[in-house]
Amino acid sequence: MTAADLVERLRAAAGTDGVLVGDAARAYGAGGLTPACVALPDTVEALERCMAVTHAAGAAVIPAGSATRLDVGHPPVRYDVAVSTRRLCRVQAHDDADMTVTVDAGITLADLNGALAAAGQWLPLDPPCPDTATVGAVVATDASGPLRLSQGKVRDLLIGITVVLADGTRVRGGGRVVKNVAGYDLMKLFSGSHGTLGVVAGASFKVRPRPAQRALLLLTAASLPAAVALAVRVLDAPVAPLYVEALNAAAAAHAGLPAQPIVAVGLGGSSKEIEVQMARLNTLAEPPVVVSEGDPDRTYGAVRDLPAAAVCGATASVLPRRLGEFIDDAVESSATSPALVVHVGSGVVRLCWLAPPADPQSFAATAERLRAVAAGHGGWLVFDTLPSASGAAIDPWGAGIPGVELMRGIKRTLDPGGRLSPGRFVDRM
Ligand SMILES: Cc1cc2nc3c(=O)[nH]c(=O)nc-3n(C[C@H](O)[C@H](O)[C@H](O)COP(=O)(O)OP(=O)(O)OC[C@H]3O[C@@H](n4cnc5c(N)ncnc54)[C@H](O)[C@@H]3O)c2cc1C
Repeated sequence: MTAADLVERLRAAAGTDGVLVGDAARAYGAGGLTPACVALPDTVEALERCMAVTHAAGAAVIPAGSATRLDVGHPPVRYDVAVSTRRLCRVQAHDDADMTVTVDAGITLADLNGALAAAGQWLPLDPPCPDTATVGAVVATDASGPLRLSQGKVRDLLIGITVVLADGTRVRGGGRVVKNVAGYDLMKLFSGSHGTLGVVAGASFKVRPRPAQRALLLLTAASLPAAVALAVRVLDAPVAPLYVEALNAAAAAHAGLPAQPIVAVGLGGSSKEIEVQMARLNTLAEPPVVVSEGDPDRTYGAVRDLPAAAVCGATASVLPRRLGEFIDDAVESSATSPALVVHVGSGVVRLCWLAPPADPQSFAATAERLRAVAAGHGGWLVFDTLPSASGAAIDPWGAGIPGVELMRGIKRTLDPGGRLSPGRFVDRM
């Protein structure tokens, strides 16, 4: 089938205004490759038809939402068509009494939370850039932010999923209610599948009450390890913070805070609940707690979005009690010092280089050293943003990941032709 035939058949499947070509398709480029066209189905049935067309054509497909993060992982080895969910963006059902919501995959987190706000509820997933992050992509990348401390991650909130496989078959897992049926847990399988197993078409989530008021407290410390130790004391204190993030001076400055190591503590609830917790936290810190001036949500947004500012970014995960040692060793191993944001409660560190590496080769060596440091502390490290110059020299996922053969088996079962985001994932699968 020629590229022109493929475009024609996709137009028949998605409608004439449901296919982009030329310059408009270039915005969906990934790893230096540009698709011949972008299909934008506006119903799940149209999505099934589009996938059946690409299946018949043997075309390599990358699922997309807003296409802000199509470069994560290895560059694709083939790329013919992007299938974007951006026109598949409705709230299908919201049961505010049961506290569940069912949405199309292309709705953004901001639009979804706008719709839930009327009932005083939210879906508390907060990766960077909620205005553009589509729900399907957040599931596919298992993206999270500061609120993971108190609210959990995708797999804690996702109760049902609808997926369209590479051959156009629709598959459902879970359901719309919290008490769910037995069966394969497709929700966990697709969380973090990075567009390699199927196109997420829709999802059902548990939602939570949105705290009526929010406050942000800032605690200063002499160094980042001291900030981490202070954050651990906050976590041990009789308070229930929404999030606790430790930032080094570079990260604090980038978020518009004083350029020094800082612990940012988010509190939520009624004004009385916030006041009581603030008084308890005041006994922990010397100097005492500083209440963020201005709009606390704005500063929180700047901290949440920091990983999106990275020209080069990595996420490390180590045992929470080894965070201090990991940070000391990581800073020693890195020729250039990144901005560091530490989700202390979960042992996750975001390393954000805010300028491109001057020497890509020596940066590749730094990357390997950092990965070895994380492994030495019983953890792992993934590069989630890489500049193209150093990209080829660095394996984003790292080698020797356990369970690769099992992953290959799942990939072969769901995408036997290897046509979905080919080469992107662990071990270039
Ligand atoms: C460390 C970190 C850094 C981040 N940096 C940025 C940033 O710089 N800019 C930004 O806007 N957001 C950023 N985010 C947050 C953002 O929430 C997610 O990356 C989100 O995936 C982007 O949404 P999107 O719709 O643009 O995704 P896309 O870029 O369209 O897709 C992202 C990935 O998800 C897959 N995918 C998308 N939709 C589907 C689907 N329906 N089914 C299956 N697979 C799908 C794609 O194939 C791709 O692998 C970051 C998150 C983290 C954790």
